[in-house]
Amino acid sequence: MKSLHHAGTFHTSSATVRRLANAHPGAVCWRCGLTLAQHPPHHDGQRPTWTGGHTIDGWIDAPPWVHATRRPPPGPWIAPEASTCNSAAGAGRTNKIRTNAQSRDWFG
Ligand SMILES: [Zn+2]
Repeated sequence: MKSLHHAGTFHTSSATVRRLANAHPGAVCWRCGLTLAQHPPHHDGQRPTWTGGHTIDGWIDAPPWVHATRRPPPGPWIAPEASTCNSAAGAGRTNKIRTNAQSRDWFG
């Protein structure tokens, strides 16, 4: 049996979402509703970048949310998420990552 993670569409969806978000200055983060320019920098001063975030952690084959300037409705999506929001959420997922090592590369 092949790993379901590798059979999923996340890597493609994530790339699509990032590309669309980067193309729209008005794209908003699904988590906080701010544009990339409105996000504070990382602790090391780096500007945040767009990532493809799961609106529901670990959902397999969530579709890409392509309307980058609007937040997605409730449900599983791969949606634009600023790297600062993504890593802030990741800090609370330590337990999950430790017990599900295969998901680790989803958060990169
Ligand atoms: Zn955000």
